[in-house]
Amino acid sequence: QQTPISSSPAAQRSAALYQKALQFMPGGCSRNTVLRQPHPLYADAGRGCYVTDIDGMQRIDFANNMAALIHGHAHPQVVAAVTEQLHKGTAFTLATEVEIDFAEHLCSRNPGFKNIRFVNSGTEAIMSCLKAARAFTGRPKIAKVEGAYHGLYDFAEVSQTAKPENWGSPDHPASVPVAHGTPPTTLNDVIVIPFNDPETAIAILDQHADELACVLVDPMPHRVGLIPASESFITALSNWTRNHGALLVFDEVITFRTRYGGAQERYAVQPDLTAMGKMIGGGFPVGALAGRRDVMEVMNPRANQLLFPHSGTFSANPITMTAGLTAMQLFDRDAVSQLNALSDQLRGQITEAIQLADVPVCVTGEGSMFRIHMKPTPPTDYRSAYETPQEARIKSALLDHLFNHGFMMINTCSGTLSTAMTEKEISAFSEVLLNGFRTVKP
Ligand code: PLP
Repeated sequence: QQTPISSSPAAQRSAALYQKALQFMPGGCSRNTVLRQPHPLYADAGRGCYVTDIDGMQRIDFANNMAALIHGHAHPQVVAAVTEQLHKGTAFTLATEVEIDFAEHLCSRNPGFKNIRFVNSGTEAIMSCLKAARAFTGRPKIAKVEGAYHGLYDFAEVSQTAKPENWGSPDHPASVPVAHGTPPTTLNDVIVIPFNDPETAIAILDQHADELACVLVDPMPHRVGLIPASESFITALSNWTRNHGALLVFDEVITFRTRYGGAQERYAVQPDLTAMGKMIGGGFPVGALAGRRDVMEVMNPRANQLLFPHSGTFSANPITMTAGLTAMQLFDRDAVSQLNALSDQLRGQITEAIQLADVPVCVTGEGSMFRIHMKPTPPTDYRSAYETPQEARIKSALLDHLFNHGFMMINTCSGTLSTAMTEKEISAFSEVLLNGFRTVKP
């Protein structure tokens, strides 16, 4: 017999559901990101930027399904397009025209996207990029940034969520596994470089020059503090990969929302491959990899030799393709600029709230993304972004305040904006945040 989960009277139904969920799923869920103390909240419905839970409380949604929703919930045009497709069938062992239309649309957003393939998640997109890089170069190793999250593929998962005592020296970050049982051979094939430190990164890469298939980098890694990669860091990685026969792979699973053609538009160089996911699915599970035609050819079964057999039962299913195409067409250049301007306004208001409350807190992020750190100055890398237990406690209290006053956030105290938001919602957020700072007193 389990002890009943304590809950506020305002969340009785969620508490009861979680009690049941614990019987059937480890931790009572299928993804740990929904967990909150003392129990997760269960959604009833969402419309625009508002979500109502099953106990009837409505909140403004800055979590957007972990940054995956760009137009909020149930956008009428997405709903209409998907409903029409639902009646025609959801998945076939045939190709569909909408896959080509969506491929054409995404390739038109970025001159570096010569070819594209669809998969079902960001994890799969990253896995496919790494396998394509290995197939193209014939080399075993990949390099990644310390602390950066790229999904669940063994090789991409190395070196994040690690405890400080496992980090290794700053000029030689350790290949720390996340999952127990990760084979040592996997760890040997992952080279970890520090973020935004071109000199140290290049010195490490040089030691593996002939073995590296690619360098994987997120241009604004969330777990590394949500600070943009510097121009000099990206240029150094681009030059190094080009000079050493390796590929530059960008993870734009989240950051693609920051510019029309992805965050990479801000840099003078172009990656060889880009992984996408989240928002390009229009609310449905998705991933994609795009880039150089000659590299993407490793997946071509009509080539003389198929170097990387690549498939997936639900890849490019017409529901996701229809939702994604509709959502991305709506997210045109004007929509991107408007959303980014609103986000700049929000970051400005957050900074003002920090000053008014006089708290040792800072905000980072760009485009439609922000993260609030319980630290006086913005971090510069994974190690400086690391949260002390005291900071973690304050953050939890602040998140509780925001949730209890009608706002949903990602549990790192990060958020994203959606095109469904207006000045009204961001001003309401800033006001409650200011009271939150005054209440929890970081
Ligand atoms: N890459 C980045 C930057 C992510 O943030 C995530 C997910 O949060 C992934 C990859 C993995 O995507 P998915 O959860 O769709 O597998």
